[in-house]
Amino acid sequence: MSPNLESIASKVKVIGKRNPVYAEIAQWVGDLLSETVQAAGKFRLPELDFDQAPSLEARSQGRSFLDPEKLSLDWEQAGALYKHLVDLLTKRENGLKQAEGLLQALAKDQNGIPKLMKAVLASDFEAIETAAREFKIDPPVLTLILRLSLRPALLNVAQAVFERLDLNQWSYGHCPVCGSAPKLADFSGEGGMRTLHCSLCETAWPYTRLRCPFCENDNREDLSYLRAESEEGLRVDLCNRCGHYIKTIDLRELPGPIIVPLDDVATWHLDIIAQENLENRKFDNRQG
Ligand SMILES: [Zn+2]
Ligand SMILES: [Zn+2]
Repeated sequence: MSPNLESIASKVKVIGKRNPVYAEIAQWVGDLLSETVQAAGKFRLPELDFDQAPSLEARSQGRSFLDPEKLSLDWEQAGALYKHLVDLLTKRENGLKQAEGLLQALAKDQNGIPKLMKAVLASDFEAIETAAREFKIDPPVLTLILRLSLRPALLNVAQAVFERLDLNQWSYGHCPVCGSAPKLADFSGEGGMRTLHCSLCETAWPYTRLRCPFCENDNREDLSYLRAESEEGLRVDLCNRCGHYIKTIDLRELPGPIIVPLDDVATWHLDIIAQENLENRKFDNRQG
């Protein structure tokens, strides 16, 4: 499931060609991602008690296979990878300034488990933002380094669970493995079937096209999409009912595979377009 080093390198190239504004950040994230792939072998496989897994019936009602907050991961290796990634960051312009704060942020722990890693598993973005302010780090940098340092452990878990899943039984918008929200979507194949990609464990699962994965709303009047100007194969799907959106990459027009952390940073302009659009709509609705 983990994309290999070649596919990371070729995606970095594709992104730089498609949108030169992202060439540098894609190269940087690609380098960090490659480090996570190389570190994966050092991670101890987590103990997963499949006897404790939710029943088929519970899963058919939308219970994900596991609860990421309860996972016992290889914290030692995750901490070592975090420090290694921070070390690489210091070689970047402005990186040195943030490195000290990043190391202090990791030191906050509870029973030997870094509190902020727990916050990532709980999708507690507020705790991460607060820590970023406290330690004077850019929030996206802190989020990225935390996510990447947990990535080998999470991908291992996802792979072990994935082999036991029947995705035909799953029709929900949250991740069948860990219950987190999707980060990206893609269209592929004839008719453009939609696949969602988990924000935490990067598991991919099919999901119907005309429905919002966040609130399950399928009223077409509340669903719309936007494209960035002159950009083939990229769009953002919006839901007017819950105010969420998802960025979509059309793999019939752009080369795959989806590599969540890379494709996410290379589409930040779509986040801005989506957020502005949803803000304006809120305003329009207020106007009457
Ligand atoms: Zn997941
Ligand atoms: Zn919605």
